[in-house]
Amino acid sequence: MSVPHRQLFIGGRSVPSTSDETFESVNPATGEVIATVDHASDDDVDAAVEAARRAFPDWSSMPGAQRGRILNRAAAILRERNDELARIEVSDTGKPISEASTVDVISGAECLEYYGGAAATLHGHHYDFGGDFAYTRREPLGVVGGIGAWNYPLQIACWKSAPALACGNTMVFKPAELTPLSALALAEVYAEAGLPDGAFNVVQGDGRTGRAMTAHPGIAKVSLTGEVGTGKAVMAAAAATLKHVTLELGGKSPLIVFDDADIDDAVSGALLANFYTQGEVCSNGTRVFVHESVHEDFVGRLTARAAKMRIGDPLDPETDVGALISRDHMEKVLSYIAIAKGSGARLLCGGGRPPGLDHGFFVQPTVFDQCTDDMQFVREEIFGPVMAVLTFSSEDEVVARANDSVYGLAAGVFTADLSRAHRVAAALEAGTVWINTYNLTPIEMPFGGYKQSGIGRENSLAAIEHYTQLKSVYVASGHVEAPY
Ligand code: NAP
Repeated sequence: MSVPHRQLFIGGRSVPSTSDETFESVNPATGEVIATVDHASDDDVDAAVEAARRAFPDWSSMPGAQRGRILNRAAAILRERNDELARIEVSDTGKPISEASTVDVISGAECLEYYGGAAATLHGHHYDFGGDFAYTRREPLGVVGGIGAWNYPLQIACWKSAPALACGNTMVFKPAELTPLSALALAEVYAEAGLPDGAFNVVQGDGRTGRAMTAHPGIAKVSLTGEVGTGKAVMAAAAATLKHVTLELGGKSPLIVFDDADIDDAVSGALLANFYTQGEVCSNGTRVFVHESVHEDFVGRLTARAAKMRIGDPLDPETDVGALISRDHMEKVLSYIAIAKGSGARLLCGGGRPPGLDHGFFVQPTVFDQCTDDMQFVREEIFGPVMAVLTFSSEDEVVARANDSVYGLAAGVFTADLSRAHRVAAALEAGTVWINTYNLTPIEMPFGGYKQSGIGRENSLAAIEHYTQLKSVYVASGHVEAPY
């Protein structure tokens, strides 16, 4: 059976790559090829940057309210096409449809609505110097490059493009090679909403395409979502042309359960923080620190609920856990499980591939107990459904241990003590701290990492800072007074 073929999206239309190179997009739940896709060449990246450069003067000089109306129209189309887009996302990523249809597409639409509203409110300030005066203009950067990861492909494309476009920039976007389809769908949505040709372009490809973008002199800024190593490579390459960078990178976040916590809530938080999207969430709380006095109770309830999670066909609305993104990634996660088994940690549940699901890249929700801070699988990001449970005895001790990581993306605290909750939230080295909940990312709130988890913030008005630059304009009221 023939599968659909997808081209690049440059200058407002579908165009073939100038190279002969194509790649396949595979459904992780079945291992079947669902599309063949053109791989962008360096010439195609040049063409996309040129299209974005041509679109920039008109788009950036359009009143913000008008840009906002286009983003709002695109958001409405995303909502109308929720079912179809959620299915694209499920077949490309393997995540459950119950998540894709309630979170991925909706969160993208909310992002477009938020920045659609914000577009009319972007302004500089007036300064009075007693006759002379000055003002600042908040101006776009120019052509912005967006480079996405594969776990939330549509959401990431929206989180990068909506603030960039709202601020008057134009964009060249590269989705992850493993999930090339939804960014193309977004480009079509933008076009239908009236976005001018060239304002949003999509170049599919692997890391070479990302490298061509990062090196490109016509791109003013790169916003990357990816691994820490890729962030370092992008930052180093961006230095050659002094590009601005926003880096949304990985994590190994702590989730702390104090002795006074509601244990059922804490278990719910730990399940969400480890097994949502098969554990392929950057902010996941994979180091679960449990106070020694409630440890036995916690792991008892946790394993009982983890064992009941339904793993299988992501298109089944009852499925809780879908397939990992690729065979390679599944092998990587399984190798970490083998490392954990060999390190002395005690396996409480899961620990391998589920029986009867050999056709896809499935791994069981897996919990290890009796873990120690120095174990390799406790320190390194696995990006799969693998939870490490550790015990602690005091607040100072657990804060120090939670902070003992190169990462600083997020953290969770479960406690009934209000003072302790805020004290610990302040002491944790993380861009986001959730108290008695986990993994909420409303668009109104900044999202990003401390330490090696990233630079800059996405979402909220904080992102506006990262997609604009300020120009200071001075106006004299009289003659120039020169001392010579
Ligand atoms: P990745 O391997 O770092 O890839 C991210 C993107 O960068 C992909 O599009 C990739 O292309 C591209 N790329 C690779 N090398 C590049 C280079 N030298 N220059 C420019 N671009 C390059 O990450 P991933 O495996 O897709 O995603 C998982 C990672 O993303 C995890 O570490 C996760 O924690 C992180 N993440 C962070 C956030 C956040 O908001 N902080 C959100 C989601 C995910 P290819 O796809 O072809 O390799």
